[in-house]
Amino acid sequence: MTIRAISYDAGHTLVRPRPGVEELWDFLAHQLGIDIEAQHRGAFPDVATFFYSRLGEDGLGAYTSDAAARTFWSEYYAYALRDAAPGAARAQLLSAGSAMFDWYNDPAQWYPFPEVLDALRAARARGLVQGVVSDWGTDLLPILHAHEITRLMDFVVASAVVGASKPHREIFLYALSRADVAADETVYVGDSYLADVLGSRAAGMHPVLIDREGAAPAIDAPVVRALTDVLTVVDAIDARAV
Ligand SMILES: [Mg+2]
Repeated sequence: MTIRAISYDAGHTLVRPRPGVEELWDFLAHQLGIDIEAQHRGAFPDVATFFYSRLGEDGLGAYTSDAAARTFWSEYYAYALRDAAPGAARAQLLSAGSAMFDWYNDPAQWYPFPEVLDALRAARARGLVQGVVSDWGTDLLPILHAHEITRLMDFVVASAVVGASKPHREIFLYALSRADVAADETVYVGDSYLADVLGSRAAGMHPVLIDREGAAPAIDAPVVRALTDVLTVVDAIDARAV
């Protein structure tokens, strides 16, 4: 067995959002027609914590369709606004969140991390099959296309298209069928331990965590600080296989 394919998570692995915190508060204030004072313009709630707090409601199904993704983000921004817009009706908060969801569907709101295109070109030069497996709506493809990522990929799998999201095995198995490679011939790179590392491992792949901040605790999988380091992990797996 040698590695023949690398699959990648999208959000915070290949691309990151462009808007800063102030711009998000400005957008929401504009949507609601209110001022949001400086004291309420703090950091946004941790998305992963909010996501997993909704387990059993829609937590692990938040990205099984565009409608489910919109509901998730509308609820998230309504939650984020709970102190900043105390006079607003819940329907208004959800509407502002829904507008934010649409705003983020614009490819201009995303951009690749600096080393991403170099890393993808290097892997391609080795002849590795490459693809994306992401919890995302159907707008993922135009976003990746606008940033010249799709031309370096053999496939892009968005959970809203498959109807299954990470960490469930179905989406990884679907991607393997697209790649036409075996699970143990595939490295999977993502920034979420639960969705990416545990999910891809459960599907039989070799997980790699990307941790650009160096903030992750020691885990039971290889950790890289930049996407350009993934080929080193591929080499190590290949060396073990000889
Ligand atoms: Mg991610």
